[in-house]
Amino acid sequence: MKAIVIGAGIGGMSAALALEKAGFSTAVYEAVKEMKPVGAAISIWPNGVKCLNALGLKAQLRALGGNMAFMAYNDGHSGSTLTRFSLSPLVQQVGEYPYPVARAELQALLIDSYGRERIRFGKRVERVEQHASGVTAWFDDGSQAEGDFMVAADGTHSVIRHHVLGEHVERRYAGYVNWNGLVTIDESIAPADQWTTFVGEGKRVSLMPVSGNRFYFFFDVPLPKGLAQDRATVKDDLRGYFAGWAEPVQRLIASIDAQTTNRVEIHDIEPFSRFVRGRVALLGDAAHSTTPDIGQGGCAAMEDAVVLAQTLTAHSLGIEDGLLRYEARRVARTRDLVLKARKRCDVTHAKDAAVTAEWYAGLKEETGERVLAGMCDTIEGGPLG
Ligand code: FAD
Repeated sequence: MKAIVIGAGIGGMSAALALEKAGFSTAVYEAVKEMKPVGAAISIWPNGVKCLNALGLKAQLRALGGNMAFMAYNDGHSGSTLTRFSLSPLVQQVGEYPYPVARAELQALLIDSYGRERIRFGKRVERVEQHASGVTAWFDDGSQAEGDFMVAADGTHSVIRHHVLGEHVERRYAGYVNWNGLVTIDESIAPADQWTTFVGEGKRVSLMPVSGNRFYFFFDVPLPKGLAQDRATVKDDLRGYFAGWAEPVQRLIASIDAQTTNRVEIHDIEPFSRFVRGRVALLGDAAHSTTPDIGQGGCAAMEDAVVLAQTLTAHSLGIEDGLLRYEARRVARTRDLVLKARKRCDVTHAKDAAVTAEWYAGLKEETGERVLAGMCDTIEGGPLG
């Protein structure tokens, strides 16, 4: 059985690795000639880590991950700590650590584990046709590929989604812009073993440790969509948005490299219930695009991959049946993640200022128990518990 996998992102590569481990042959087609991940880093929560463990990447992932032992919220203006607690109870409950990792390094790990030379780069799929015993993918260079089924992991702008759903879906702007990048750890900004977030005015500034003595940083600012962006003004823009904020925030802005800082307008897609049509399955952001507010988009793609391989191998009624079982196991889970992230997004980014003010006030009373319970619930809802 041969799978055509479209897209060599986190979803596509996790799927290709999972399918090969389950005994399928795969061919991966990627539109770009060279991978340039959109964000600087990504937090892989234990549900995602468990999936990568299942793909045989445990030791390699651990080597890329930062030591995120504590979590803290600070007041953006005064810099004072609102709450700080250990992540150890979470690790104890779910049985695995969270790993923030540099995105390029995660991507390289997945690609090299599969075999970089095996991936067909520069192959942009334009359409797919299904017939009684397989699928044909058509690429923009006029070439085509045949397989028994297709895994479309072609991201949030998926072209295959239309084939599966029979209609076009619009992405929804979530109301804020995110700047992110990597910077050398400076403990005068935040402790090296802590996920630190400064909050205020519906904005946030966050730092997470990744390997190699680096912080993954990001800034969120509620803004209208479509503002002109210019790398030359990134630092001045951030100084303006965070004027009057605490000294560590100013120091972080001073230390970032504008040339490697990404600016992303954050979107999601209203969850839908169909991931499969015949022999074509959507996976990752193609199936469920979420805001990054609970750090679960990439983790959900890894979960998809593991479940896909499970459902295709655990049943004997054929590919189409196996794909429908994949859909049945993933629709509710991913809807839950997208809607949880949307809710968190709205509270964090002051969609309703009163609700956000209440959240800030509640952080002063937070012992960690409530936050960790919510995270454990999300993590344990994954396919590997
Ligand atoms: P993508 O990464 O978009 O990969 C799709 C691939 O398909 C690309 O390589 C693309 O070039 C290729 N492609 C597209 N069209 C075609 C075509 N027609 N033919 C062939 N190839 C094609 N998730 C987490 O789990 N934790 C986090 O902390 C986190 N933080 C985030 C922060 C930000 C700012 C953002 C924007 C997202 C974050 N996410 C996070 C979400 C995560 O990045 C995505 O969910 C994940 O990258 C989705 O992987 P994917 O493979 O489905 O899609």
